[in-house]
Amino acid sequence: MADRFDVVVIGGGPGGYTAAIRAAQLGFATACIDDWTRAGGKPAPGGTCTNVGCIPSKALLQSSENYEHAGHAFADHGIDVKGLSIDVKRMLARKDKVVGQNNDGILYLFKKNKVAFFHGRGSLAARDGDAWTVKVDGAKPATITATHVVVATGSKPRALPGTPIDNDRVLDNEGALAIPDVPARLGVVGAGVIGLEMGSVWRRLGATVTVLEALPTFLGAVDEAVAKEALKVFTRQGLAIHTGAKITAVEVGKADVKVAWTDATGKTQSSTFDRLIVSIGRVPFTGGLGAEAVGLALDERGFVVVDDACRTNLPNVWAVGDVVRGPMLAHKAEEEAVAVCERIAGQHGHVDFNTVPWVIYTSPEIAWVGETEQQLKAAGTAYKAGTFPFLANGRARALGDTTGFVKVLADAATDRILGVHMIGPMVSELISEGVVAMEFGAASEDLARICHAHPSLSEATKEASLAVLGRAVNI
Ligand SMILES: Cc1cc2nc3c(=O)[nH]c(=O)nc-3n(C[C@H](O)[C@H](O)[C@H](O)COP(=O)(O)OP(=O)(O)OC[C@H]3O[C@@H](n4cnc5c(N)ncnc54)[C@H](O)[C@@H]3O)c2cc1C
Repeated sequence: MADRFDVVVIGGGPGGYTAAIRAAQLGFATACIDDWTRAGGKPAPGGTCTNVGCIPSKALLQSSENYEHAGHAFADHGIDVKGLSIDVKRMLARKDKVVGQNNDGILYLFKKNKVAFFHGRGSLAARDGDAWTVKVDGAKPATITATHVVVATGSKPRALPGTPIDNDRVLDNEGALAIPDVPARLGVVGAGVIGLEMGSVWRRLGATVTVLEALPTFLGAVDEAVAKEALKVFTRQGLAIHTGAKITAVEVGKADVKVAWTDATGKTQSSTFDRLIVSIGRVPFTGGLGAEAVGLALDERGFVVVDDACRTNLPNVWAVGDVVRGPMLAHKAEEEAVAVCERIAGQHGHVDFNTVPWVIYTSPEIAWVGETEQQLKAAGTAYKAGTFPFLANGRARALGDTTGFVKVLADAATDRILGVHMIGPMVSELISEGVVAMEFGAASEDLARICHAHPSLSEATKEASLAVLGRAVNI
């Protein structure tokens, strides 16, 4: 294998593997180094997203949703299910299979695009002339050189002080995706995306789930009307959500975990769980990268410092994804990766953070793009809002899921769409229409005048746009 490359990417998650493929497509001799290893020692490229994030969580969300539908929703359709049971071992094996297929898919794409793959830990060692020396520490150690280096080393879970993760009783996202049996009492610290998704999985399978969130508001970054609806629905489903909850002590026993906490009124509380998931956010990961040795600048929180174009302080060293500022989302990492490679090729890659979609894959799903009503109010922007409930949508009624609504926010003077907010069935898919509209600088009237298939959930977006103009038809 050649040891001189145009582009070497350190990290093989969504940011890293996408950068490697795009660089190769642009004609650069490219290598990608990733250290994730699956059972048996085989490489497992795909990073957090593929191995312990987006993909396995969605596999378990689907399994648990199927189980819940079979237990509750099918009867309404005249389908009686007798003797329903869940085999957690088989469910987890299916999840592992899905993950393995994604790992193999990335290895195939590397081969197809002639990306040289190195399995091990990559570190920036030195700059020699116009090239970087990068060391690979793994089963097959190597020293390679590169004109450009893209750092895509991702993130790791934020620790709760005084609460070590053992992934048996106290779990991070990795453990939460591999609980071997349904815990009767599950505690979740943190009501963010990961906590809510993991809490939903195990609640649907029968766990009593208590969510302890330190912040005073539930889903503070989400549009207030959506967050309010979500809290109502999740509570009705049986998730006990406590905001303003401060953990004071965690005591891990042989068979349970005792958590002492104070509630929003300052009253001392105590809860005992069979397992406790800690999901209080993620922090950038640069361990073993050699940042200090070569003087790669990190900020006070450990993020690699980059400019708007993802350039670091070092010549020809770029950084993308969770290890740099901005939303910790797989698709944000991928977009930055593509933009960086195109800049290396002298093109004009660009990522607009305002049109990055956000999704929470609970049931109902939550999705949004652009600004929330509270952000527009705080900025003093004059806007119009249009809302349409799924209750009035024919396809949602046929599906048997009429929870939630679509809300479109548009500039009061120009009608340009400023934000689209959704809670309801399949809104993870519906939000793309809002993203496209915003990327093209559409007005709400543009969406309102586009012919949408009937019956479809997307008609709710058209109707919400019509509502901005004060002329929704079906309500
Ligand atoms: C439970 C969970 C669910 C999630 N669900 C979603 C979702 O639905 N949608 C979404 O958009 N995002 C989701 N995320 C977030 C998403 O996983 C991250 O935003 C995304 O993985 C970031 O990609 P990345 O390439 O920057 O880093 P990572 O995916 O973290 O990849 C970094 C890779 O680099 C490797 N590495 C690190 N240092 C080195 C080194 N020195 N040498 C070699 N290799 C190294 C790591 O082992 C890893 O393989 C979820 C996260 C979690 C934990």
